[in-house]
Amino acid sequence: MIQWCLERLSQQQLTSLVQQTQAVQVSGELPTYLAPLASVNQRRFGVWVERIRGGSLGAGDWADHFALMSVVKPFLLLYLLETRGAAVVFDQVGREPSAYPFNSLEQLLVDQGWPRNPMINSGALVMAALLGGETSQFQTWLNQRANIHLALDQDLLKAVQQGDNHHNQALAQYLAKVKGFDPEQMLQVYFWVCCLSGNAADLARLGMLLVQPPPATVANAQIVVDLMISCGLYQASATWGGRLGLPLKSGVSGALLALVPGQGVVGIYSPPLDPAGNSILALRLLERLASL
Ligand code: GLN
Repeated sequence: MIQWCLERLSQQQLTSLVQQTQAVQVSGELPTYLAPLASVNQRRFGVWVERIRGGSLGAGDWADHFALMSVVKPFLLLYLLETRGAAVVFDQVGREPSAYPFNSLEQLLVDQGWPRNPMINSGALVMAALLGGETSQFQTWLNQRANIHLALDQDLLKAVQQGDNHHNQALAQYLAKVKGFDPEQMLQVYFWVCCLSGNAADLARLGMLLVQPPPATVANAQIVVDLMISCGLYQASATWGGRLGLPLKSGVSGALLALVPGQGVVGIYSPPLDPAGNSILALRLLERLASL
């Protein structure tokens, strides 16, 4: 069992860990179906550590802006738990880990239209349907609660709308048939929330909503944290849960959110992805942090 101690981490240690990790040559993938995400500089690497005790630390390209993509899912879930309640949410989506990729139609077919969990696209599409026209309220809620500045990346949203969406479209069509949602609205809301953008510091501060939630949110935050542990990295969740022992969430932009319960949050940005869609060097950095 890894004993995390974020409090002892120094700026110098973090800076040198980032330099060492950034120097590693990796042959990762970029999401070719989303042109703006596939044309970024793969060498960018930013990290921000937000702590309950000991203040915050930033290293590398922490000020770079990137889209949250799937890292928005835990926060969409938190918002819906707060505003709609757990009974309404879990009437639509399950709490079990998935075995197939994050955008797999096969998984949804195997499960006869019942999305396994809110961390994969089928579950997030259903959550998007529950969010409906409240996208701006959701953005304001996140920014006010976490004291951050997430903004909608309009260019990316356009590219996503015009890009190759056949996986998500197939999921939305099937969900619409089974659950009676409007497939187009579901997709548009999903795209919109995925294109909320910020830097690694915004990401880490967002994570603090789960590590240090206001008293009234503790129970809902715990539901989200539990789902990040079992489902946050899709089919690779158990592997990385075993290696790092942390609640994690990844996005295809190269964003990675790591919660260290009781201590703080690490927000990382590094674009190259492994086959499951998780940032390779972000996970590498966490391994190094764990062995300090
Ligand atoms: N919008 C992205 C997609 O559906 C988000 C997926 C992700 O980050 N894993 O492809």
